[in-house]
Amino acid sequence: MKRRTLLKLFSLAPFGAAATHVHAAPPKTMKEIEGLQQNWKTLLAAGTEVPAPGEKLELSKDEWKKRLQGKAYSVLRQEDTERPGTSPLNEEKRPGVFVCAGCGLPLFTSAMKYESGTGWPSFFTTIPGAFATKTDYKIIYPRTEYHCARCGGHHGHLFDDGPAPTGKRYCNNGVALKFIPQNGKA
Ligand SMILES: [Zn+2]
Repeated sequence: MKRRTLLKLFSLAPFGAAATHVHAAPPKTMKEIEGLQQNWKTLLAAGTEVPAPGEKLELSKDEWKKRLQGKAYSVLRQEDTERPGTSPLNEEKRPGVFVCAGCGLPLFTSAMKYESGTGWPSFFTTIPGAFATKTDYKIIYPRTEYHCARCGGHHGHLFDDGPAPTGKRYCNNGVALKFIPQNGKA
């Protein structure tokens, strides 16, 4: 199709309809959230092999140290937190899937991400079964810590100030994630 024809089509379409083809609008209902969760594989690059939450990965401390470099080790295995604003994934807006940097388990899709303004990659829901949670008291008041269901790697904390309809904010360390673009190009 010629560029002019394409531009004409876009200008004819109502803004909302055109926008859904370029960037999906944020979900408004829990039914739409469930849809994002159930259809997460549509954002997975074709031919990508990914593990399931039940295929547990257990490694020794030394094996993890070999597998993970620097901050990725201290965040995932020692519940450290990266400095805000340091992750290139804050700016990542392409369609695709975010997997655990420790074990490759799919955790979030690009359709679950939003800009929270905190300096950490933030998501309002997750791929089903991706995480387990516990309560920690590291900063005196209780917080909900969440970690990868497959390798136990720490990812971040869960807060109740996210956007509707979930109201959840998964505040995730960028070094704990790897992004697989839907088009397969790194
Ligand atoms: Zn993992």
